[in-house]
Amino acid sequence: MEIRLRGHHLLCLLGFRGMGYSAKFSANMRLVYNELREQPQTLITIIGGPDDLCACFPKDAEQHCENRSVYEHDKRILDKLDFSAGMTLPWQDVIHRVRVNMQPEDINTLCYTCEWRTYGVCEAGVRTIKQGGWMPSL
Ligand code: SF4
Repeated sequence: MEIRLRGHHLLCLLGFRGMGYSAKFSANMRLVYNELREQPQTLITIIGGPDDLCACFPKDAEQHCENRSVYEHDKRILDKLDFSAGMTLPWQDVIHRVRVNMQPEDINTLCYTCEWRTYGVCEAGVRTIKQGGWMPSL
């Protein structure tokens, strides 16, 4: 199974603790999260636009997946991790790059536009990875 992910969702998955835009969105994200948690050799392809998580964004909510600010957000994170759209790599390589290239506090600058940032779960998720831990079971 290959999973298509945009730049900022590489980090969202580290902070995912079950919350989301809707029950359907969260259920889909949980499936992806569990696949990557349990099978870290799973291949992901980084794409430059709406991805396999965006696919379940609720149709009746204000759409933002194609906003320029979201593309810029993707780019900030791909630059930080030294990745680019079009790459296919195992999820464990993403984890390795987060360990090497990021500090937990980087979430505050990389994701300054995100409504979920102040919950602190993404910063905590990066900290767990930095400390050699793994994605917790949900
Ligand atoms: S702060 Fe927002 S964009 Fe950044 S990792 Fe968390 S949920 Fe994703």
